[in-house]
Amino acid sequence: MKKKIEILDSTLRDGSQGEGISFSVSDKLKIAGVLDKFGVDFIEAGNPYSNPKDAEFFEQASKLHFTTAKLAAFGSTVRKDTAPEDDEGLRALLAAGTKLVVVFGKTWKLHVDCILGVTPSENLEMIASTIEYLRKNGRNVFFDAEHFFDGYKTDPDYALEVLKTAAKAGASTLVMCDTNGGSFPEDISRAVRDVCKTVKTPLGIHCHNDTGCAAANTISAVRTGVCHVQGTFTGIGERCGNAALSTVIPDLQLKLGYSIVSPERLATLSKTARFINEVTNVRLPASLPYVGKSAFAHKAGMHADGVAKQHETYEHIDPELVGSRRSFLLSEASGRSSVLPRLQVFDGSLTKSSSETKAVTEKLKELEHAGFQFEAAAASFELMAMRELGRFTPHFEIDHYRIISSMDSIDGQKYTEKANALVKVRVGDRYEITADEGEGPVNAIDKALRKALEVFYPELKKMHLIDFKVRVVTSDDSTAAITRVLIESTDGETTWTTVGASRDIINASVIALTDSLEYMLKDK
Ligand SMILES: [Zn+2]
Repeated sequence: MKKKIEILDSTLRDGSQGEGISFSVSDKLKIAGVLDKFGVDFIEAGNPYSNPKDAEFFEQASKLHFTTAKLAAFGSTVRKDTAPEDDEGLRALLAAGTKLVVVFGKTWKLHVDCILGVTPSENLEMIASTIEYLRKNGRNVFFDAEHFFDGYKTDPDYALEVLKTAAKAGASTLVMCDTNGGSFPEDISRAVRDVCKTVKTPLGIHCHNDTGCAAANTISAVRTGVCHVQGTFTGIGERCGNAALSTVIPDLQLKLGYSIVSPERLATLSKTARFINEVTNVRLPASLPYVGKSAFAHKAGMHADGVAKQHETYEHIDPELVGSRRSFLLSEASGRSSVLPRLQVFDGSLTKSSSETKAVTEKLKELEHAGFQFEAAAASFELMAMRELGRFTPHFEIDHYRIISSMDSIDGQKYTEKANALVKVRVGDRYEITADEGEGPVNAIDKALRKALEVFYPELKKMHLIDFKVRVVTSDDSTAAITRVLIESTDGETTWTTVGASRDIINASVIALTDSLEYMLKDK
């Protein structure tokens, strides 16, 4: 039978240390919900002592019912010269009310001396008294041995002593942390091998990515004997981040045969990663293994041809196993072999020499010549192909729009930018006229258009723009140059990109916006 590996997700605790990341209580509740649904074993949700928001989270989360995951509160060992029952940090940890707590303690003598200012034996006593106190209060305790690998390098006997002390005091899992993230896989496996020889308590691994090796280090630890893996779902975290569970989980399960979640749950990996980053308001790196937008994207030419014939030629796994989609990047140089697989989604009988394939390829070349670019705008390509194949019925038409954009000075000095948009749309035989104002003309027309369409299609409320890119395409006549606008939109679960091009930047934006709204509505 395949060995079971436990997963602890620390997106809500270690992930929140990442630059630019700030979770509200409601964000945290949403993320905890999807992590549970995905099937992680433990959710380390925050430090109730250091952050009052976390204390509120634990209060609210206690009313929720998780089906798979157990919530854990995180905190440190007792302060020096303090009895556990008088320690505010431990009080907060107990007040969080979770059955499971994770406490971290110092393992590296440099920290014991410089940061805590205690003797090595005092540090061991602090670890023991903390864990014993928490156990006495009915808690299951995981012990995070902070800076374990740095400590092990300089004084292996002491690092081992720390683990043994924690085990003796009642910790049920001992987690070796590469807190500074500076190790390589060999360093990790060497230390883990030694620990496995003397420590019989279940072992875990927690890696940071400062050498770019967090995933490799985690896998190396598992192959050497640990059975508990910590990380953040998409790799967010302090400095260069933590081991990305969205990489480590499929690596372990699909490549190495460990058992983590059911195949059905693994097939929600991409969706879960996108949802978490959407709530986090961080873009998912395109090249993130398994779940990034480029993970299964093939550029024109031999690769696209090869994958179309047999996907194994240029893919290490079937993207569906992790809920990702294969895509073929398009450009005017790509030709019919790149266009064909996208058309076969609509009609499996089409071939490279079908007239439809030729027509769409011609249209692609024509539009790219006019300034459009479809490589990054798969949604616009799909709509264009549907139009060419006669499979597209528009959900609305813009009858007309007007935009007034102005800049007013206040006291002859400061300037305020304003834009107002008026739009009239037709849906069937009904018309709707709306107006709105925004920060700049594109924002104003986006708001007015959406307001008009939400009358007919309330589901558009779920959608919003996440990125807007403008590029000048031709530079021969700079003010009359063609402008290309790329818009990335999301409904909270999936993302799609559309393109518009025109000599008028507003018009280019309206073309891309229209496609974006049509794409959201296409299956309705
Ligand atoms: Zn960490």
